[in-house]
Amino acid sequence: MTRENILRTGEQTKAVHAGEFPDPVTGASAPNIVMSTTFVVDADTGFSVEGMDENDAWVYTRWGNPTIRQLEDKLSVIEGAETAIAFASGMGAIVALLFHLLKSGDHAIVSDVAYAALSEIANELIPELGIEITKVNTSDIDAISAAVKSNTKLIYTETPCNPILRLTDIAAVAAIARDVGAKLAVDSTFATPVATKPLQLGADFVIHSLTKYLGGHGDALGGVLLGSKRELVPLRRKTSIRFGGTISPFNAWLIIRGLATLPIRMRIHQENAMKIASYLEQNHRIKRVIYPGLESHPQHELAKQQMKNFSGILTFQVNDSESIRKITEKLQIIHYAVSLGHHRSLIFYLSSKDLLQTSFKFVTPGQYDSWNTFAGEGIFRLSAGLENVEDLIADLEQALRE
Ligand SMILES: *Cc1c(COP(=O)(O)O)cnc(C)c1O
Repeated sequence: MTRENILRTGEQTKAVHAGEFPDPVTGASAPNIVMSTTFVVDADTGFSVEGMDENDAWVYTRWGNPTIRQLEDKLSVIEGAETAIAFASGMGAIVALLFHLLKSGDHAIVSDVAYAALSEIANELIPELGIEITKVNTSDIDAISAAVKSNTKLIYTETPCNPILRLTDIAAVAAIARDVGAKLAVDSTFATPVATKPLQLGADFVIHSLTKYLGGHGDALGGVLLGSKRELVPLRRKTSIRFGGTISPFNAWLIIRGLATLPIRMRIHQENAMKIASYLEQNHRIKRVIYPGLESHPQHELAKQQMKNFSGILTFQVNDSESIRKITEKLQIIHYAVSLGHHRSLIFYLSSKDLLQTSFKFVTPGQYDSWNTFAGEGIFRLSAGLENVEDLIADLEQALRE
């Protein structure tokens, strides 16, 4: 099927067929894994990526690889982006974008709560290069407007944000970015393209950790950057190929397979998360549940407007430290582990005191207030998997019992 024809199909058809085609030599219906790092080339092939064209023959896997290209094609169709570049991890994609867009003397606005590794490089490494960073609560549109400067080149946000599930109004932030000539990048890992398509709302770049929902099975690290050819063609040369954060073709192949079921998985992730969130809201040991699909979420209206699926992650606070111990030690089905978006349910406790010291260095009282609204003294982050929801609720019930 041609890309034009695929683009006219529904989301499940796109997830199954985009980027895939029967092998022209063998007729194999499923994609091959091309593990070769080098390719036999013509005598006139150049030795630098400088003169490289997107449609040139394969040369070296760090420059490009048939299996990785199939993954990139599938992702660009699913997200509705002109093009995509896959990376070895979500952080690989983020760092390539930051180095592409920012240089000494520039200013960037970064969400004050975001993926920990990004927050940590924005605290130290990036400012050490002479790039000024202002951390802002990006759910507060006025705070973003107030932080903008004449040299602001990038606004970087995550929605829902990891780990507190606070939302950012992408269209509103895109309008600010447009006004000042800055680029807007949205880490959409928690939402997935099933819920939200940031490019349609005015973002310039979308980032996903493929390690989470898109791969979906907890067995392959990966990341992707999506956007226009105008930005991503030079970026591929500058900070993808030369920096070397290339995804393994084997991981690309695993993620291609995971992506085929993304739309149907997200339906069950959402359904299970909603039922668990409602159960926990009724439990007397639980102080507060945050889930975009609950009416009690402080931004439920924005969630309904911006998310077609509320995704599968919820957080909750407990009333006593004994409950923290029980949950971390007694769960039988739900794995006590970091990461999220896998077919397996995962849970992890995040202490506010620890996180505010290591990752999120707030300066204004408003930033602390917002954190307290969403996370209090600490939260369990629960990624609802694809198990039977009755079993997941029973697991939580037995862990919380006397
Ligand atoms: C996990 C995650 C990342 C980082 O992805 P890796 O694949 O672990 O490098 C970035 N952003 C969000 C929101 C994440 O959850």
